[in-house]
Amino acid sequence: MRLTDAGTVKRIMEENGAVFKKKFGQNFLTSENVLARIAENADEGVLEIGPGIGSLTDFLCEKAKKVVSVEIDSSLIPILEKTMADRDNFRLVEGDALKIDLEKLVADEFPGMSVSVCANLPYYITTPVLTRLLSCGVPFTNLTVMVQKEVASRLCAAPGSPEYGAISVFCGYYGKARKILKVPAGCFVPAPKVDSAVVRIDLFREPPVPGDPEDIFRVVRAAFGQRRKTLSNALSSGLPGVTRQEIADVLSACGVDPSARGETLSLTQFAEIAEKLKG
Ligand code: SAM
Repeated sequence: MRLTDAGTVKRIMEENGAVFKKKFGQNFLTSENVLARIAENADEGVLEIGPGIGSLTDFLCEKAKKVVSVEIDSSLIPILEKTMADRDNFRLVEGDALKIDLEKLVADEFPGMSVSVCANLPYYITTPVLTRLLSCGVPFTNLTVMVQKEVASRLCAAPGSPEYGAISVFCGYYGKARKILKVPAGCFVPAPKVDSAVVRIDLFREPPVPGDPEDIFRVVRAAFGQRRKTLSNALSSGLPGVTRQEIADVLSACGVDPSARGETLSLTQFAEIAEKLKG
């Protein structure tokens, strides 16, 4: 069922005695153009996080062979069963995207299929959900997600830009992110306070740099932990057990200026520093 105007969405919620829940980040997308643009990124199989009452789900079902949607709000389940009743390539899973076993879900539901994630993400858990989707070990082809405009800029940021931070490096380890669409607040019901953007992250088949990602991210977290400090000071206070001299030696061996700031370093430089710190 097409849910592309605010009036229809509000009426369906009302008729079913449901209310928009802020605590679950429920801002439903009603722009037909934006819904279609997100669905263009669907692969053979699509995992959707948070279907709401099915606005995006319906478009995804038109493009993909199979769509599996995970929804936390039990009051929306009976509504989705109605709005999606005529789609036989749709499966609904009631659960929490932060807790569900994603590897098992994908293996069980999409055998032999290439799978993407398409979602209008609930804003209150954007970072933990994305972190999970990127690092869970499932070889998704792409993650195409609606996020707050500022988060979109951070995901796509290059070293040296003001938006560049730990999440940019983390995302860059797993894939190549690009903004594909700006989305004004008025495209949602209820309208959120901020504008949004759709980001597509194409996941790498192989890591772009060598080394244990945990070691790399430990250095990244330390470097960005105290943004005003020089890299050498930030690493000294953020990496317990590593001496100032060791840090100075490693930065010098990597050709990195100790008075530089973390936000100027590339993923490759972080990986080199992590590798040398291991000894
Ligand atoms: N996809 C719909 C749309 O575009 O209109 C709804 C998007 S709305 C921004 C986010 C959806 O995610 C809501 O349906 C909300 O209940 C659901 N949600 C929130 N937290 C969740 C979680 N931890 N696991 C699964 N779904 C969640």
